Amino acid sequence: MLYFTSGYPSAEPIGLWSFAGVSWNDLFIGLSHFNYLVVVDVLAIAWLVYRLLLWAQGTRAWQIICGLLIYFGAVFVTDWLNLFALNWLLRSMFAFGPVALVILFLPELRHALEEFGRPGFWSRSFGLVPQEAVGDMIDAVVPAAASMSVKRIGAIMVIERESRLEDVVATGTTMDARVSRTLLEAIFYPGNPLHDGAVVLRSNQLVAAACTLPLTDAPRIEAAVHTRHKAALGMSEESDAVVVVVSEETGTISIAVEGRLVRGFTEESLRDRLQQTLDYGATPGLAGTAIGQAAVRVSGAIIQKSRARRKSRRRSHDGAAR
Ligand code: ATP
Ligand code: MG
Repeated sequence: MLYFTSGYPSAEPIGLWSFAGVSWNDLFIGLSHFNYLVVVDVLAIAWLVYRLLLWAQGTRAWQIICGLLIYFGAVFVTDWLNLFALNWLLRSMFAFGPVALVILFLPELRHALEEFGRPGFWSRSFGLVPQEAVGDMIDAVVPAAASMSVKRIGAIMVIERESRLEDVVATGTTMDARVSRTLLEAIFYPGNPLHDGAVVLRSNQLVAAACTLPLTDAPRIEAAVHTRHKAALGMSEESDAVVVVVSEETGTISIAVEGRLVRGFTEESLRDRLQQTLDYGATPGLAGTAIGQAAVRVSGAIIQKSRARRKSRRRSHDGAAR
């Protein structure tokens, strides 16, 4: 659907708008064609920008977005001050923009496309995830992580979201206990037979302890990132889980999610980030309705089925290899 229906602007283009070939003329014509689809269109863009900013916050992508804003600011200012040569140079660079962006964001783009294909991404985005127990779990994880950080006790806590982590649970010891701060601290206490490995948390349940996670094989990883953090990254690459790590060496609290490791959380910032990432405190959306609950159950069943199919395919492949 085209809202700006005129050809190339007959009126003078207006500063930065001229990038898109939009002039005042186009703007008026667009407004005269206003209908409710425009509202849907604008809301969709607002939602996309919001998700993009949430996703980019505190990552490399965030710095690139800041760089782009500075670039567009410079184009606008040079245009406004009639600095023709500088403005021409900056606009010439714009031609390389799309290629440069694809190169810079290649891993993130690949990951984002994979995310769109996951049922969990859409159910999460439309508020289909039940919220009841998430608060209890955050209330256990955050103080436990803060306390272990002070005592330099290493820990790795995998918070399951839509991807079921049965493969990982199978590598550890099943617990099926209600999660609490004391339980988490007791498990990771050095000397406890279950302290080595990760715990898997599913809403307010501690499903299993001493689990082995897949290590990341990302080639561009810092030398300082050792196996505990590599395991957290690997888990976040292979599923949509949120992984909280406490470093035994430094006490640093980190979160790995969607293939990215963010370090240096405090108790408050960890709580904020977990609430944000797990959509805790967001409007209940469809989760409270019967349709929403049915959708959660159906998508859960689909995910479980596809994991089981993948598992049996892997098993038969391994059998054939032997
Ligand atoms: P830290 O900062 O706590 O020292 P690190 O990133 O430097 O962590 P290591 O010192 O190698 O990593 O941590 C080893 C510990 O990490 C192991 O004792 C074990 O508890 C945990 N760990 C290592 N690999 C895995 C794995 N694949 N899955 C789960 N936990 C793992
Ligand atoms: Mg270490």
